[in-house]
Amino acid sequence: MKKYLQNSDKKFPVYTELEQKISPGVWKGIQFFAVAVVIALCVSLFVYSDRTLFLFWRVIIPVLPLVFLLALGLWRNICPLATLNQITISFKFNRDLSLPKWLDKNYYLISISLFLIIVPARKLLFNTDGPALALFILTVAALAFVMGIFYKGKSGFCNSICPVLPVERIYGQTPFFMIRNSHCEQCVSCTKNCIDNNPNGAYLADLYDDDSYFKAPRKFFAGMFPGFIIAFYTLPDPPAISAISMYLQFALFSVVSAGIFFLIESFIKATTNKLTGLFGAAALNLYYWFNAPLMAELISTPPSMWFIWSVRVMVLLITIAWLFRTYKKELSYKEHLLELQKV
Ligand code: SF4
Repeated sequence: MKKYLQNSDKKFPVYTELEQKISPGVWKGIQFFAVAVVIALCVSLFVYSDRTLFLFWRVIIPVLPLVFLLALGLWRNICPLATLNQITISFKFNRDLSLPKWLDKNYYLISISLFLIIVPARKLLFNTDGPALALFILTVAALAFVMGIFYKGKSGFCNSICPVLPVERIYGQTPFFMIRNSHCEQCVSCTKNCIDNNPNGAYLADLYDDDSYFKAPRKFFAGMFPGFIIAFYTLPDPPAISAISMYLQFALFSVVSAGIFFLIESFIKATTNKLTGLFGAAALNLYYWFNAPLMAELISTPPSMWFIWSVRVMVLLITIAWLFRTYKKELSYKEHLLELQKV
């Protein structure tokens, strides 16, 4: 598989084969600006808590899933946590270690677990408590930085335990616009099936891996994701229910959703890629189904039904095109695997 990802193929180019449309110097400027924005945001969460919470949860966060779907590389280049992680390499105080075996084996499970703990915590705390959100962001930023000191490439955080990584991998698996990775001057093969190295082929390489232990958490995340989103937008916030009850209900929605995924996989003859793509598309549409009225509130009072339905239909059309491309891509991938077997 590694051989495949490192080989040149116009459908699955590695990042060094992509055109560099923006110079590394400009990317560096944008990256440091993004870090400055996060610091300002954290200060503002203490000083102007309500307004900054509104800006963060109602304006910035809702845009990101669509950015992941359209051009994941853009976000991977400008994510401030990635910059803090990679600054240790830019300024040459990275110790260039490989992940310990236990972490290398389990990082995806850790990443999913963090996601499942942190997102419901929004309803408990982070949606309404500015200083708590600021301290949380600063803690994660410090973790990204410290992991960057020890581990090579992006293996310590961005490509291992980052809680957003499972979402990025499922939404960003077939980008409409491939943007060249600006962080890695030279690939040091720090991560298996790296999405920064091969944006179009990495997720398929995950799904076609021979190791079922490696594949299982990826399939579970795709399966449980639509149920998790329904839980987020339909369950009441504490104190209307207790924190324990909320987490249990999140678990129930997620397990039922994953159960449907595995049931379909057992009884219907479809490749795993078809199912993960379908569940990823469902998750994205559910996300914007619930968010469209919230977005419309930003624009007019009362919220415009025209706007709400425009957002929902636009997202549906984009994901249909995305799904079509994701399915089509799998055929090329299989052909390429066959060619490799002949070599
Ligand atoms: S494998 Fe590591 S070094 Fe190579 S492109 Fe990916 S993140 Fe960069």
